[in-house]
Amino acid sequence: MSKTIFTPVRGMKDLYGIDFNKYKYIIDTAIKIANKYGYSTIETPIVENTEVFQRSIGDDTDVVSKEMYTFKDKGDESITLRPEGTAGVMRAIVSNNMVVSNNLPLKLMYYGPMFRYDRPQKGRYRQFHQLGFESIGAKSPYTDAINIALANEILTSVGIFDCQVYINSLGDLSSRENYLKAIVKYFSIYEDKLSEDSKIRLKKNPLRILDSKDQNDKEICLMAPKISDYLNKNDIKYFECVCETLEKCGIKYVIDNLLVRGLDYYSHTIFELKISNGQYKDAIGGGGRYDGLLKLLGGPDVSGIGFAIGMERLMMLLDENKFQQQEYIVSVIPVSDKEIDNAFELYKTILSNNIRAEFVHIGNNLSKKVEIASKLNSTILLIIGEEEVKNNTITITYMNKSEEARRNKTIDRNNIVGFLKYN
Ligand code: AMP
Repeated sequence: MSKTIFTPVRGMKDLYGIDFNKYKYIIDTAIKIANKYGYSTIETPIVENTEVFQRSIGDDTDVVSKEMYTFKDKGDESITLRPEGTAGVMRAIVSNNMVVSNNLPLKLMYYGPMFRYDRPQKGRYRQFHQLGFESIGAKSPYTDAINIALANEILTSVGIFDCQVYINSLGDLSSRENYLKAIVKYFSIYEDKLSEDSKIRLKKNPLRILDSKDQNDKEICLMAPKISDYLNKNDIKYFECVCETLEKCGIKYVIDNLLVRGLDYYSHTIFELKISNGQYKDAIGGGGRYDGLLKLLGGPDVSGIGFAIGMERLMMLLDENKFQQQEYIVSVIPVSDKEIDNAFELYKTILSNNIRAEFVHIGNNLSKKVEIASKLNSTILLIIGEEEVKNNTITITYMNKSEEARRNKTIDRNNIVGFLKYN
């Protein structure tokens, strides 16, 4: 199809109909669960100063170096459409001075569109939506396990039970420094075989080679040293406690030594949730601990952990049939223009009683109007003709797929609201 002004921007799509119903259902469910765990909701701007992302996510990550929608505004400021939610939430915590010593842990939830200049394919878009959770100020393996349990609970609450949790630990700064030395040594041996991007990463940020999408790099990574062999004693103890706590919560997990996640700000526990039925290979959600992030953005030195779930990937897994519009829809139909005002009064009465209704008054004759009401998926028609106005009644037609099976009945107009509510 050739591109016109009606073609959406590549990798972006409209959200409506069944998909919108799914989106709303997930968000409504997540808000209820978030309240239970003590989270409140935050909405940050869709654009931030570019530096917010460069500083927190890291200049050498794919997200910052290749995928950001960055442009100059009319005031010549470099701004970026947010590629993820955490950096903006951390910036908001600092801007609004949200951390005071006695209000920790601070728990915030967000949802909304994110933008990455990624290669569009199934489950990968340039505008997508995330649902995210951030918990600031409680550094404990229990908090990490609770975050994983929370992510898992959101998925199971919307009916996804075959999700597998993958976890790993990146340890603290000292563990990561030792690990870095080991991987620099290892990748230097294969430098000639690495992709051009990874050659640069080797100089600037070697850990990022581990999330290279290049097939050749991926093979070299398989034999690379594992972070688990470089964790110090405290990190090992911490990670063991996370695992034990997950077991206490009844959550099955797999330790994935190759998991590093593509953003610079992570430390200690990192995790991803994937579908184990083979339907989809990429992660539905993921997150981890980011102890230095708030400080990096000019805030207090307080630890944090969070995760995000990709809405489109989750929506894809939900059963379409459950989200069909199955509501009961009332259509009010004047037989001719003579009854239009009288029928309009009825329509307003029905709406003011919070009952979904349509006012079907366009169409040359009654059968045309019934046809329109049927296309609107009406379940009940309220027909007002000359007789009905005279007798203060309403003729009710129950819509049915076959015309023969349609049933009529006449009721007193004064009883209509009760009739619609309790029938
Ligand atoms: P990340 O912020 O990279 O940790 O991603 C968290 C989740 O967001 C992923 O597990 C995906 O479900 C979703 N996600 C990330 N990038 C995309 C994308 N380009 N299109 C759709 N979903 C995405």
